[in-house]
Amino acid sequence: MHTAKDIINELHKPTEEERKLITKAFSYTESAHEGHKRYSGEPYINHPAAVAYKLAAMGMTPVTICAGLLHDTIEDTPITSDDIRNEFGEEILFLVEGVTKLSSVRYYGTDRHNESLRKLFVATSQDIRVLIIKLTDRLHNMETLHHVPEEKQTRIARETLEIYVPVAHRLGMGKIRKELEDLAFPFVYPEDAKRVEELLKEHFPNAEEILEKERKVLQKKLVDAGLTEFKTSFRVKGKCSLYHKFKRKEWNPDRIYDLLAMRVIVSSVEDCYRTLGAAHDLWRPLPKRIKDYIAFPKPNGYQSIHTTVTTKNGTILEIQIRTTKMHQAAEFGVASHILYKPPTVTGTHRPSVLSALIPNLFLPSNKQTSSDSKHDIHELANTPPHKKIPRWISEIGNTYNQESDNSTSEFVADAESDFFSNRIFVFTPTGDVIDMPVGATPVDFAYAIHSEIGDHTASAKVNQKMSPLDTELKNGDMIEIETKKSANPSPKWLRFAKTSLARKHIKLATEDTL
Ligand code: MN
Repeated sequence: MHTAKDIINELHKPTEEERKLITKAFSYTESAHEGHKRYSGEPYINHPAAVAYKLAAMGMTPVTICAGLLHDTIEDTPITSDDIRNEFGEEILFLVEGVTKLSSVRYYGTDRHNESLRKLFVATSQDIRVLIIKLTDRLHNMETLHHVPEEKQTRIARETLEIYVPVAHRLGMGKIRKELEDLAFPFVYPEDAKRVEELLKEHFPNAEEILEKERKVLQKKLVDAGLTEFKTSFRVKGKCSLYHKFKRKEWNPDRIYDLLAMRVIVSSVEDCYRTLGAAHDLWRPLPKRIKDYIAFPKPNGYQSIHTTVTTKNGTILEIQIRTTKMHQAAEFGVASHILYKPPTVTGTHRPSVLSALIPNLFLPSNKQTSSDSKHDIHELANTPPHKKIPRWISEIGNTYNQESDNSTSEFVADAESDFFSNRIFVFTPTGDVIDMPVGATPVDFAYAIHSEIGDHTASAKVNQKMSPLDTELKNGDMIEIETKKSANPSPKWLRFAKTSLARKHIKLATEDTL
């Protein structure tokens, strides 16, 4: 059970006003949910309090944390939007309403799957903070899912895997993605989860113990090598990603090299290479397993050095080496741009430097410059919620799969299976969302709307500018097609049309002329 004080303690140098705001939102929420109980029998306030606490620990701003406290009030209590506006202002209301709207996104099976995903994506794209609150809300609900009646568990867990996990993945939020995935997996695939667990038990009975021992060995080596500022951690690969890997490796545990991983976080790129040198001096590296994603970042901007070694005890271990800011980017993805407190890893680096890593990611609509260390509540309270699709949505493809422990082949496999990775979302002038493959053009768009429109496309406007018909569309573009009765498809369109639908129609219409 988290108190207002616990939440405030997570803030970075909170002002008196910020403390008051949190305290007020906490007691407001507490009385709003008075008498409500969760399935576990606990008072309801424990849920928003836990969500707010997680947001605070993640480094979100007091405004976002307040919205986290209030996130269920409009939906579940007599509190109205007007009440929230009067008590907490327009901005907090905007966030709470955004989260409330998202609760209508439900997963009902494959038919509506993509539709829900899209809705979620578009609805949240108005403000990344709404999405972060929603993901955090879901995380706490998943942590307490065992209290929920059994008949509901599977649906909620499946929805988590089908909607929330891909969204977190897409936004590069590796940490929350993984937590959600591992919590949901056993509920949706109990048999597979059991199989993975048994294999783990059989082949790696005391993984944690081994890792703890090897960590000490590595730490000593790093100190001997003259490294002073570093942080080490370790992990056993998550059950869900392990399951996918097992499937690819014919369930042969000997073919899995990254089951156990050690992470070293240092303060400079130079220290990354020194760490690599020390690790290789200590343990024998496996050939062809060294990946320098610092010199050669993954397409999504992910940076880290990976190497796989065999320790003196014969344990195969993947070592990931990165700086604090690279770590921050891998764990929090787009969220790292709006974090309010410095990362607690070594406490010296500011997440805002990340903009150098993934350029143009967080964009001007929020009036945030890379040198901002925190939001000014009042200034933000006066900022009208942006109605336009912010440009970050169009840049989001770059952050895809900012995950830490993927080998290149896995990255490719993931990219192929990930619904979002090969899709873009574009808009009609009336705001309808059309999803298209990457590389689609206005001609593809026209045919996606209707074959008649495609067949009579004369010209196109992309974001209100006249654009050639072979323009490559980008995420978030708004497209207007101008049709003329006299216009007909040209065989030249086949050179750039991407979708099979468009190609089929163009071929049909131009067959005579070919
Ligand atoms: Mn909730």
